[in-house]
Order: sequence, then structure tokens, then C-alpha cells
Amino acid sequence: MIPSFLNLVPDQDPKIFPRKIGADGKPVNTSKVVGGRTFVRKPEDITGIGIHQTACVFGPLDDPQKRHRRALKVPAHVLAFRDGVYAQSAPLLWELYHGNALNPFTLGLELEGQYPGLLDDPSTPVREDEKTFWKGGSGKPTPLDAQALATFRVALAFLVEEGRKLGCPIKYIWAHRQANGTRDSDPGQEIWQRVVIEFGERSLGLEARCADTWRDGRPIPKAWDPRGFGSYR
Ligand SMILES: [Zn+2]
Repeated sequence: MIPSFLNLVPDQDPKIFPRKIGADGKPVNTSKVVGGRTFVRKPEDITGIGIHQTACVFGPLDDPQKRHRRALKVPAHVLAFRDGVYAQSAPLLWELYHGNALNPFTLGLELEGQYPGLLDDPSTPVREDEKTFWKGGSGKPTPLDAQALATFRVALAFLVEEGRKLGCPIKYIWAHRQANGTRDSDPGQEIWQRVVIEFGERSLGLEARCADTWRDGRPIPKAWDPRGFGSYR
């Protein structure tokens, strides 16, 4: 199946993720917001993509329409499902809470599935894929099959192209791991290699910024990328 686009923007709540806006027109960092509104960013402030795995598979599996509409509740600009549908659930200039410190200057891309942080190394007795599941995980890792991979790549291309059309100077791509110390496996080794390096960099001309970190976030590890830094954990 050729990946298909689902536009959920008209159905989104215009006050999702309300922020208090200060006198300078910028959002104020406060947990209490009364009468706030979603912050709309300037295109020139958006310089890249923040990439994630959802660490789950959405249901109900027997009702695709209902299943795809769940993107409306996921704070990311695009959620790419494994079955060939990628859904945009908010205007790209809206600041959404998808990636901690990445939020102000990225477009958020969530990829459906539960992917291990590290692929299994058959030469070691430890099953690295099971050990590196999000929060210890449960069940089996989701396979990154051809349908899912094609959908994830098309969704990434969509964000880059549509963002640039709006005037966003999109050049970079970061993993959620780099801005959140509890998200080691976000988005995981295989997504990094097959979606970010093989497609985002080689086909779309993006630059992965492996060294960048914010707060307790960790750089892209050597196990994911030869240009990376340090160990997985
Ligand atoms: Zn994430």
C-alpha cells in the first residue's frame, strides 16, 4: 500500500496545549495557564525535526478510522502509523509538547510501534533488544517492516517539505533521547539508522546533530551511529 495522508487539522482543538503569552509575544514558562492559547511560532524559528517512537501500537485494530483519529490526542505534528497512514493533527507552526527542550524549534514526528533501543547482538548472551525496551517493556518488539518503514519515510519527507513551504529553515534532525534522560530508546537504533541516516540525511539532505543535548538528555550513541558519542546508557 502506498502511504496515504490523513489531515486531522480541521478537527483539532485550537486551544490544545495552551500557553501564557508574555508582553514580548513569547510563551511564559509556567505550569498554571488560565485563558491561554496555543503558541504559534515564527517559521524562521523552526530549524529541524524531533523524531520519536510512540513505544506502543494504537488500537482498536479493527476500526482504522477510530485508530487513526487517536493522533488528535498525541502531541506531535505528524503521527505515522504502521499500516500506511500518516496523520497531521496540528498546524506545523503550533508549538506542541512532544520533545521537552526540542519543542520550540522542531516539528514533532511520532512513529508508531514499540522498538528496542538497541538491536539484538546475536554474539552476546544478553538480549540487548529486550533489555533496551522502553521501561523494561512488555511483549515483543514491533518489527520495522517494509510498510511501516515506507510510511515513516514518507511522513518525514512530508514534514520537511511542508515546513520549508511555510518558510521554516529545516536543516537538522534530533532524537527525543537528546532532550530527555529517561528516553534512551527514543526513537531506537533501527529507526535512527533506517529512517534518519538512510533517508533523512541521504535523500532529504537533513543533518543529524548527534552531539547536541539538553538537560539530562544523552547524545546519539556510537551503537546507533558511527559519528555518535559514548554508550547507549
Ligand atoms: Zn519521544
